[in-house]
Amino acid sequence: MVCFRSISKLVNGEIPEVVEADLESLVNADRSHFHPNTAAHIIESQGAKFFLKGEGVYLEDTDGRKYVDAYSGMGNVILGHGHPYVIQAIKDQLDQLCYVPAFFAYGNSPSALLAQSLADVSPNGLNHVQFANSGSEANELSFKLARLHHTVRGKTEKIKFISQRGAYHGATYAAMSAGGIPSYQQHFGPMMDGFIFVDMPDIYHSTSENVGADCAVDLEQTICSEGPETIAAFIIEPIMGVAGHLIPPPNYYPMVREICDRYDVLLIADEVVCGVGRTGKFFGLEHWSVVPDMMTLAKGITSGYQPLGATVISDAVWESILSVGTDYVFPHGTTTSAHPVCCAAGLATLEVVQRDNLVQRSHELGKYMLDDFESRLSENPYVGDIRGLGLLASIELVEDRETKRKFASDRAIGRKVYNSSMQGGVIVRTAKDIVSLRPPLISTEAEIDKIVEVVANAINELATSDVTTT
Ligand code: PLP
Repeated sequence: MVCFRSISKLVNGEIPEVVEADLESLVNADRSHFHPNTAAHIIESQGAKFFLKGEGVYLEDTDGRKYVDAYSGMGNVILGHGHPYVIQAIKDQLDQLCYVPAFFAYGNSPSALLAQSLADVSPNGLNHVQFANSGSEANELSFKLARLHHTVRGKTEKIKFISQRGAYHGATYAAMSAGGIPSYQQHFGPMMDGFIFVDMPDIYHSTSENVGADCAVDLEQTICSEGPETIAAFIIEPIMGVAGHLIPPPNYYPMVREICDRYDVLLIADEVVCGVGRTGKFFGLEHWSVVPDMMTLAKGITSGYQPLGATVISDAVWESILSVGTDYVFPHGTTTSAHPVCCAAGLATLEVVQRDNLVQRSHELGKYMLDDFESRLSENPYVGDIRGLGLLASIELVEDRETKRKFASDRAIGRKVYNSSMQGGVIVRTAKDIVSLRPPLISTEAEIDKIVEVVANAINELATSDVTTT
């Protein structure tokens, strides 16, 4: 039996009471509603898989079965589930002040403190924060600000954006238009004008000796052919997530920074996945010692306990806003921007990350995880590439290691690994034939051992069963 609130009582206008209901009713109640990035017909025909509890790295389903959440939800639950410190901070904030707008020059203490804390941990020169409710919205603001920055300096034609093919920047229209994944745009066209794409270095698949420089040159040529006077910003995912955690070579982002400076193009780092310690540094771009002009954050910023995004901007972009004039009312925000409860969750999350040295832990544990995967999988004929930074890793499976030929999609190899991992009690994410992991930063070595054992077994089983028999 599981508990949920009576819908009939709600419709009658009474305060709903908690009633006992069986799982079937719960699943049925959900069937005609649609879930994000999910096939609607699957929800309708099979129903969703429900989880009832979460504790530490574990999620528990309705049969009482426990799984290691090796993808931290969506990569966001960096402190694991049910962290008492963050929960207490949320409760305390609810008791004290549930909501006050950030509009009309009103403030609240968690948002002021969190903005200051984020500015403190951000690279030099990135000192000004506005909060949003998601990564998509944080990116929307960065696009608006890029145009404002150029326009107020008289560069009114600088309105286009360059983005990386394969990148994901969110679900709202500008963020979707900046996304380099065509299937996410299908049926929603036309995309917004002014988004142009360049390649992201893909070390594993590239045949070039110097793919970082090639892609940087491609960026420069694209800027020049479009006309530098028309390009507002280049938005990057420091490590490209949905595409399978592509990690560019050391020379790429320093070259990108130089090119952006040369043509007065702002560099926007979408740190929604990489930010807050995921990659073993506080921000992903720190691995390349490059400072962007704007940074967007979400996911780990509250460990997923509350919805929150943030856009962190440089002094120069801030000056552009100020330069509009003393009467200028910056016309952007949503009702729940800088929500005190979300910001309290963010503040508590940052405190735990710093108190427990979780950025360093992500670095060390990530290396431990990667080394173990390498020792268990390096001989597997279907393992093409194992890559990772901090507690973010991907294993790319190929049919032929020599030629890097991919499996035919109907072989559903990724799905098979996902299913075997679930059977073994570990939740991973697979996109095509790339298995991706983002374990919580609070994981223990024993929990990482379990993840590696189950996932490596699932992949090694392929060599003896699914692949050879197809
Ligand atoms: N940017 C990146 C790199 C992401 O991975 C995501 C979401 O997965 C987003 C932006 C959008 O964030 P949100 O889903 O919070 O809107």
